[in-house]
Amino acid sequence: MIVIVGAGLAGLSTAYHLTGMPYRLYERESEVGGLCRSYRKDGFTFDYTGHLLHFRQPAIKALVEQLLADKLQRHYRKSFIYSHQTYTEYPFQVNVHGLPPEVVRECLLGFITTLLHPASSNNPKDLCFKQWILDNLGEGMAKHFMIPFNEKLWKVSLDELTSDWVSWLVPKPELKDVINGALGIKDKAFGYNPSFLYPASGGINVLPQSFLPGISSIETNVELLEVDTKRRRARFYDRLSDTTRTEHYESLISTIPVPELVRRCLDLPAPLKEAAEGLRWVSVYNLNLAVAREQVSDKHWLYFPEPEFPFYRVGFPMNFSSALGQPGCSSMYVEISHRPMEHQPVDQLVAQARTGLERAGILRPGDDMVVSDVKDLHYAYVYFDRHRATAIPAILSELERRGIHSIGRYGRWEHTSMEDAIGQGKQLAERLRMDQNQALSA
Ligand SMILES: Cc1cc2nc3c(=O)[nH]c(=O)nc-3n(C[C@H](O)[C@H](O)[C@H](O)COP(=O)(O)OP(=O)(O)OC[C@H]3O[C@@H](n4cnc5c(N)ncnc54)[C@H](O)[C@@H]3O)c2cc1C
Repeated sequence: MIVIVGAGLAGLSTAYHLTGMPYRLYERESEVGGLCRSYRKDGFTFDYTGHLLHFRQPAIKALVEQLLADKLQRHYRKSFIYSHQTYTEYPFQVNVHGLPPEVVRECLLGFITTLLHPASSNNPKDLCFKQWILDNLGEGMAKHFMIPFNEKLWKVSLDELTSDWVSWLVPKPELKDVINGALGIKDKAFGYNPSFLYPASGGINVLPQSFLPGISSIETNVELLEVDTKRRRARFYDRLSDTTRTEHYESLISTIPVPELVRRCLDLPAPLKEAAEGLRWVSVYNLNLAVAREQVSDKHWLYFPEPEFPFYRVGFPMNFSSALGQPGCSSMYVEISHRPMEHQPVDQLVAQARTGLERAGILRPGDDMVVSDVKDLHYAYVYFDRHRATAIPAILSELERRGIHSIGRYGRWEHTSMEDAIGQGKQLAERLRMDQNQALSA
């Protein structure tokens, strides 16, 4: 028996691709989808912050397009940075045109200096994130966007983060692109997601739901409590019947955050448990708001590097899909990161967000806020730091040795997308199927 824990996209995709093999999928919540979910509130649909589909793997794109048939719409990214009371296009490094001339000059000179005096080591493994920014983008871009934005998001000094994750998320531009961007010349789309797909209605929730017809054995409201890795037994708590049960497994596939998994594995060596406890991450308050005024913005989402704005990003779901709201209204998701154990009252968060949105000219003082709802995404962005670099390989390989495969964004403790979660589930299911076929033919 294969036991899968967690019905986010990684768990759903694993089960979907295990067709014909014996498995059970357990999910703690009453519904599937994990982070990739949507909910309704007073006539508006919100994701757990905007979830947009962009693909780099043709096989996963084809799978999602087949699952969602004609339900997806393509959008050309309208994402901007708001700083110096000006909107400039994202990504910052190739779009500084429109900023005050002294800012443009600092950005250009800084970038050119990185080309004239390349850093001695450009191996991301050797560099802290701050040094990577300075070496690759220069002092001006560091000062005017990269450092303030990232410190606001990560809530930690960028000296403490490593840079081995940045290459596809923060591409280093060519000089020609930087110059064009400073002069306002546009000759190509830049960045990892110049266009994206999003469901025409129903929010991103339609994606996890589309896996369900292909999944035969799934139970919600069932939480993994503990694992005896030696005897390969997992104990679960069933919330609806208020009972516990024990499953014997040959393989356990876990998609829950790796510190939570390790805590539940009672017989792992103490150093491994300490290593898992040392992993760090940042949480995100997801404020979902709606006001009784049409099109408060014509953009998809905005980044805010400056400290007078409490949020690092704001998005406008009705600009991806008008079916997510009500006529005559606008909806927004506002993202404010926080350290996992530090909390703020909801009223304070909403008041701060409103003040910031008015300062940016998105809301007006007279706007009637018809929805304000706050979700706390406890595990949002994991830290890539020196501890992670040694802890994660050690933890994952010891778990594998004991028949436990930890996958997904928080199972692998990485910055990955919906596409990656689906891809990891597919890949693991195919590997387990191959192992089984080999065992049968031996
Ligand atoms: C703020 C934010 C914005 C994002 N935006 C995008 C985007 O625009 N595009 C994109 O592609 N990706 C985006 N992502 C990433 C995307 O959400 C994830 O890559 C993907 O949803 C991860 O799926 P998963 O299955 O690995 O994990 P999860 O979705 O976390 O699933 C894990 C599941 O395990 C369950 N679980 C936890 N503990 C237990 C337990 N003890 N017992 C049983 N079940 C348990 C949880 O309830 C959950 O359902 C974003 C992420 C964040 C944080």
